[in-house]
Amino acid sequence: MDRAEMFKKAKEAADAEAENRRNGNFTPHEYEKIPFEGLETNKLKVFRFVGNPYTVRDENWHPKMVLSSKIVGDNKKQFVCRWSEDRDWFLWRVYNKITAYDWDENFVNPDGSKGRKVYKLAKTNPEILDRVLHNNKKAYVMPDGRKIEDSGWKPSRSVYMNCICKDDYDWHKENKSYKLIAKKIGTSEDAEGNVSEFPEPGIPVSCYEYIIKAVVEENGAWEDFDIAIKKEEKEPWYSAYSFMDERKIKDQLSVPMNGDPMTEEELSWDKIDIDKITQVTSYRKIHNRLGKFIKQVDEILNTDFTSELEKLVAEEKAKWKEDHKDGSDENEKTEEPKAEEKKTRLRKPAESNESSSSENVYDKMRKLGWVKADQLEKDMKDMGVELTVDFGESEKTTKLHFVCDGEEISQDDLIPCCDCYLPGPEIIDYCPACGAVFKS
Ligand SMILES: [Zn+2]
Repeated sequence: MDRAEMFKKAKEAADAEAENRRNGNFTPHEYEKIPFEGLETNKLKVFRFVGNPYTVRDENWHPKMVLSSKIVGDNKKQFVCRWSEDRDWFLWRVYNKITAYDWDENFVNPDGSKGRKVYKLAKTNPEILDRVLHNNKKAYVMPDGRKIEDSGWKPSRSVYMNCICKDDYDWHKENKSYKLIAKKIGTSEDAEGNVSEFPEPGIPVSCYEYIIKAVVEENGAWEDFDIAIKKEEKEPWYSAYSFMDERKIKDQLSVPMNGDPMTEEELSWDKIDIDKITQVTSYRKIHNRLGKFIKQVDEILNTDFTSELEKLVAEEKAKWKEDHKDGSDENEKTEEPKAEEKKTRLRKPAESNESSSSENVYDKMRKLGWVKADQLEKDMKDMGVELTVDFGESEKTTKLHFVCDGEEISQDDLIPCCDCYLPGPEIIDYCPACGAVFKS
């Protein structure tokens, strides 16, 4: 392959990625207000980490291991799915059912090793198998001929961590906040030159292990000294150095490292509540995004996942209503009861230039003559839902953003009012604009 071809391939890959982004959900709404610090290839960045290792975490801002995958839903759009560690969790069981395999021990692989998986559905139902294994996407062929397969539903493990990045220390000082480390921050530019960022939060477990190794070698804790991390072009992909190794890497550093204790000021900065943005994907979302596919699986494999999922959705809805019945609970719900009492809150956006902040959104509705603005205000408060609105020319073009438990209800899941076409969520059985009442 000549160089021109290589670039053509690279362009194809970039186009494919841009297409993915256009298909939505590359930046889940819940990440938008969070400051990220991305690792960069061949660039050493200096960090100070805080909290216990994820295996013994006991605060919502301590490092956390998160399982997630990018699944293409029934609407052909990709969504981020966060998985439970519990192998009995609904989607695990669907996944395991579809990807069940036998082990062919006599098969000889190209590298000489023996054995391979033979999927039970490979011959009989390749289409549903391929959807789960690769999101029905063709493998991407690298310039050197290697194939990169889409990883489908299979979740990967990342560790989310609060950090201070010394390379951007002024930002931390000014905003009095930590950041979340990200394995990568992708960017794209629209026609007007506005750049959007697409963070991939967390670092791979392998990178986390290098950090732990660097810390343990010094017989210390990561709050005691700086750690420099670099993303490499090839294996081992990441390297980590403690402050005591500074000599070895000095000429690659943009900022000095140190082994000073953290200051009172640093310790006082806002930490990001990791639990709030890493909740396991709701059954409601799974049902909305994969309901059709799961039904198809039931028909083909004679399983009963659909009615099971519907039951789980109903239970979740009931529990959600129960949890939010008493509007006095201002603390956000978290997965872990231990962390529930802690009050580390999500950092508020520094300054929003949008006209629709939650303070005046209901006033604006009243001004526009929305019949049930008062009731909506009360209900949203009771349910702990944060609402922002992009007011359009009419109800039909108005967009409501409902955020509950740190997750925005997808626009695809909103149902237009039968009278004025204002899209609204299932959780309210009336139209706030024209006042129509819906039967459930
Ligand atoms: Zn209406």
